[in-house]
Amino acid sequence: KTFRDLGVIEELCQACEKLGYKDPTPIQREAIPTALSKRDVIGLAQTGSGKTAAFALPVIQELWDNPSPYYAVVLAPTRELAYQISEQFEALGGAIGVRSVVIVGGMDMVTQAVALSKKPHILVCTPGRLMDHLENTKGFSLRNLQYLIMDEADRLLDMDFGPIIDRVLKVIPKERRTMLFSATMTNKVEKLQRASLHNPVRVAV
Ligand code: AMP
Repeated sequence: KTFRDLGVIEELCQACEKLGYKDPTPIQREAIPTALSKRDVIGLAQTGSGKTAAFALPVIQELWDNPSPYYAVVLAPTRELAYQISEQFEALGGAIGVRSVVIVGGMDMVTQAVALSKKPHILVCTPGRLMDHLENTKGFSLRNLQYLIMDEADRLLDMDFGPIIDRVLKVIPKERRTMLFSATMTNKVEKLQRASLHNPVRVAV
């Protein structure tokens, strides 16, 4: 199967080609059509499986139909992962105008607030710093958020981000789409899944 067979639009197929993605990886073959059919997704996949593009491609494709600021939030456990994810969004979606920013701890709040005021489509965040901006940055809210993605959910919970994620869940719309990716399915991940996903499809590789 090709990316076209999975329902990926021509513009994004071309972006994949440019990045040297010839054929979709197994997690992409499962997750992309499921997400494009508007279902929530739980993806059990390791780093290196192509999981980032598995969630980035459907988000960008849906965003392309109806571009709006703060369209999607991706929660990641570490700064390094957040930068990698943001780079993939820009590499895949940059040519069609997708703008992504990284909101992580240890960086200047004011600089980040300026970046947020430019209304990017994708926010890739560590949970604590996202909450900090939700509480302290004037004019910033996620009232219109369409998509929440939690990447490496097992690590997010191992790092005790659970209570902060619960607080984020309280201030974002209930009417949204959600994807959760994790290398392992632990009790804590199952609990987070029940609190945040609606009738999800589980895909595993
Ligand atoms: P990830 O599992 O998201 O960290 O991706 C691992 C690596 O695989 C990254 O460097 C991606 O750029 C690359 N990648 C993602 N999808 C594909 C694909 N379909 N074909 C080849 N490489 C890919």
